[in-house]
Amino acid sequence: MEIIDEDDEEVKRLMLRISRKEITLCDSCDTFFDYIPQKTTCDECKKKKHREYYQCPEVKERMREYQREYQQRPEVKAKKREYSREYEQRPERKARKRERYLHKKKLREEE
Ligand SMILES: [Zn+2]
Repeated sequence: MEIIDEDDEEVKRLMLRISRKEITLCDSCDTFFDYIPQKTTCDECKKKKHREYYQCPEVKERMREYQREYQQRPEVKAKKREYSREYEQRPERKARKRERYLHKKKLREEE
């Protein structure tokens, strides 16, 4: 407790509140927050850490890998196939396909 200036009443008051477990000083910024057991980081920093965590390339890569794995699952593949079959059956989709086909055909004929 020697690092605390004796005259600094505010700091003393805060230290007292910390020792009474009324408040906690955030471990990554200067914010005090209501004491909650096991909680050492304020909500803001926690959110920030969380965001940073998902921005980390390794984590991103892991998530992409997980997603790839997920999409390789037979039940997921089946659902995807079903969806795309349905999608291909839509009239606007058919029209678009035919349009593209005719366009390509026309280009080929022009060559
Ligand atoms: Zn904080």
